Amino acid sequence: MSNYGYTHEKLSPHLWRIIDRTGVCCYLVEGTEKACLLDTTNGLGDIKEYVQRLTDRPVFVVLTHAHLDHMGSSGLFEEVYLNREDLPVYRFKTSTEHRLSDARNRLKLQVSDISELPPVYAGEFRPLRDGQCFDLGGITIEMISVKGHTPGMMCALLKEERIIIFGDACGVAVMLMDEFSSNVSEYRQSLLHLKEYEDQYDVVYRNHGTFTSPKELLDHVIECCDLVLAGKDDHVPIKLYGHDLFLCHQLKPGTHERMDGKEGNLLYLPEKVK
Ligand SMILES: [Zn+2]
Ligand SMILES: [Zn+2]
Repeated sequence: MSNYGYTHEKLSPHLWRIIDRTGVCCYLVEGTEKACLLDTTNGLGDIKEYVQRLTDRPVFVVLTHAHLDHMGSSGLFEEVYLNREDLPVYRFKTSTEHRLSDARNRLKLQVSDISELPPVYAGEFRPLRDGQCFDLGGITIEMISVKGHTPGMMCALLKEERIIIFGDACGVAVMLMDEFSSNVSEYRQSLLHLKEYEDQYDVVYRNHGTFTSPKELLDHVIECCDLVLAGKDDHVPIKLYGHDLFLCHQLKPGTHERMDGKEGNLLYLPEKVK
């Protein structure tokens, strides 16, 4: 099914994936009492109306972090949760200057006025903390702090369904790319915290690319941190969004795959290792 440029797929009794036209996804979790929208994608098109076609439960929004590809159109919702650690990122990303350049360069929108952009939440965020649980009725979400990609980055564990959403916290190419990101050693500590939950899930979902990874992804990214910290990574220079980064594992030419075929890679700033 396609509408407003969105498509969706049902993943389990309580979970949908909604994909926007740029290829970013968010997740809708529905319980018997309430529904939780985990991120809102770039929000190009009325995501609120789209969500209301999938569920008739009252919907609140939990933002995994304050990047624009995850919180576009969050302003359409009344109840929005964000880890306070991400408020500096939120303020930077929602400045007029940043939004206009993001719309032109990343989204390729023809915008003459910022008012045409998907509205981001302008109210008072509800706080989101490590270990916070949302009981939706028959399904519980536990939020896990995994500081790194951003300071307030959170993963969502769907406890009864043994599914975890790593989001941008841990992936095929984790980006520790700007002044808000952690250094590699701090990020490694966050991954060890995430690993404490490893016996509580069987399925790993993400928000970009193939949207899913084997459980081993976490160990592979921890290994990336170890390699970088020991100065033994491939140290491949990469220029991305104006940042001069290094990639831990070299890729097969013309692909996003590691030479050894394993999933999990790390982009980092040379001045933010230890
Ligand atoms: Zn992000
Ligand atoms: Zn993202």
